[in-house]
Amino acid sequence: MTDLTNKVAIVTGGARGIGAAISKELASHGARVVVNYNSSKGPSEKLIMEIAEMGGDAYAVQADVSKSEEAQKLVNETINHFGRLDIVVNNAGITRDRTFKKLKEEDWKNVIDVNLNSVYNTTAAALPYLLESDSGRIINISSIIGQAGGFGQTNYSAAKAGMIGYTKSLALELAKSGVTVNAICPGFIDTAMVQEIPENIREQIVAKIPVRRFGQAEEIARGVIFLCKDGEYITGQQLNINGGLYM
Ligand code: NAP
Repeated sequence: MTDLTNKVAIVTGGARGIGAAISKELASHGARVVVNYNSSKGPSEKLIMEIAEMGGDAYAVQADVSKSEEAQKLVNETINHFGRLDIVVNNAGITRDRTFKKLKEEDWKNVIDVNLNSVYNTTAAALPYLLESDSGRIINISSIIGQAGGFGQTNYSAAKAGMIGYTKSLALELAKSGVTVNAICPGFIDTAMVQEIPENIREQIVAKIPVRRFGQAEEIARGVIFLCKDGEYITGQQLNINGGLYM
């Protein structure tokens, strides 16, 4: 089992939603956390204070991780502040749901940039430091939609499926180094992203979920902790946390 005390973790999009739950859970297990945000400055400051009140150590860094130079800045600031890097959680994501007929090129490109190209950007900047860690972890927050598809979600589904292929290939390349690479595939989790779905559609979705409820962000965060602490022999996998919606 890996002790997370004093390990350093970056959580992209770590100030709200699933990312905030992951930041908090990592901090509560003793990790020092870099909470990356793009636009959520206020929530990031509030979260840093909450973590400090819990006795944890966190630091906020603004960066649009869809841009490679900003992802590099995120990693540089992490090293300047904490001096090492052990865990990267690629969590930043957006949706621009439209049926394919209505989808604009911009909707396609933005979703691929933020959900998929960001994963390349952050990992490429972080890898030299992860290789120095005795327990490097890369955890990519993909989605059930990358596995099963989703109506009106060709862009998002392509990005999330891309993360899964990327996870498997990088896991193969890094296995000997001790850095594990895994994807978590959440089902429908009760955050702003799902709250944007119209109420009648939300009801239809819940009716199809075998456990009959949306997941909570903390349930994804606990999956991250499992992979970080107990995951030394788990690599290239998809951890499905979806209430049984996709098996
Ligand atoms: P959310 O509440 O909408 O939060 C999205 C997060 O992504 C925010 O922290 C946001 O930061 C960050 N972000 C967006 N663009 C960014 C950029 N360019 N650079 C850095 N950060 C950026 O969504 P969520 O539900 O927590 O989703 C988190 C992840 O889980 C996403 O990758 C999503 O696709 C995935 N997921 C969610 C669900 C679900 O049901 N909720 C299911 C499967 C997978 P700012 O606020 O600072 O912009």
